[in-house]
Amino acid sequence: MPTDSPRTVPSWTLGTTTIHRVDEVPLPPATGPWLLPAATPDLVTGEDWLHPHFADGDGVLRLDSHSFAFSAGGLRILVDTGIGDGKQRANPAWHDLRTGYLDRLTAAGFPPHTVDLVILTHLHTDHVGWNTREENGRWVPTFPRTRYLVSRAEREFWAAYDMDEPRRQMFRDSVDPVEEAGLLDLVDVPDDGTEVVPGVRLLPTPGHTPGHVAVRVTGEGTGPGDDGTAVITGDCVHHPVQFAHPAIGSCVDIDPRLAATTRRSLLASLAGTGTLLMGTHFPAPTAGRVIAHGDAYRLIPVGPRH
Ligand SMILES: [Zn+2]
Repeated sequence: MPTDSPRTVPSWTLGTTTIHRVDEVPLPPATGPWLLPAATPDLVTGEDWLHPHFADGDGVLRLDSHSFAFSAGGLRILVDTGIGDGKQRANPAWHDLRTGYLDRLTAAGFPPHTVDLVILTHLHTDHVGWNTREENGRWVPTFPRTRYLVSRAEREFWAAYDMDEPRRQMFRDSVDPVEEAGLLDLVDVPDDGTEVVPGVRLLPTPGHTPGHVAVRVTGEGTGPGDDGTAVITGDCVHHPVQFAHPAIGSCVDIDPRLAATTRRSLLASLAGTGTLLMGTHFPAPTAGRVIAHGDAYRLIPVGPRH
């Protein structure tokens, strides 16, 4: 059966490191008003730089679900695993999907059995889905020779949390099978972050969830306007509208005030640098550089190399 050529996979290069975007599915238009309720159509249309990539002309935000895959320190690494196929979910946008994600992961040059490390930015439904796949009626790890990393603070928070049934279901089908197979590693993430692989650093970015991490990837070699570094957001920023309005939080932030503080300090640390910011829910072109604008920020998009 023909598969997509690897050349069709959107990719960005940091010197010798190439980061691929592995698409899962665009999220439906109702996602923006639900997820970021303060980002009203009037507010969004007032930020004309968001159009056409990040918002429709009528102020509806565009959001996607995807992962990032790259090699570093001799390991083949995937950051977040999306929503997953065939999962029973209350949210219709996430329910019982069939997306062809694994074909695209393979086309990117990362067939599941070759992935060494999965980094989970946090334990929410749309970031852990492809941790597992269904086999003979059971949920089994999709990546059989993989270590799955999550921050210790994140795992321990959910272990002590009084979960409702939909969240328990998510843990049963997407987290527990990995943990029971002995594949889940908990990482202590101090305030200044921790390097888990040479060139790959977890940055504590709490608020959306208590143990949330962003992922900083440093390649070898740099070019003009490029410091050879990328930061993958996870959900500490959901959408570029939050560059212009960092106080806008998501309806599922555990600590909205801390989430806003985290967002501001991350954007401040990146503004004016050559670091590429790569958004886990940003639609194409997905990545860009942060600039200061007034008392907030903007994203200058940097498209993939093809
Ligand atoms: Zn998310």
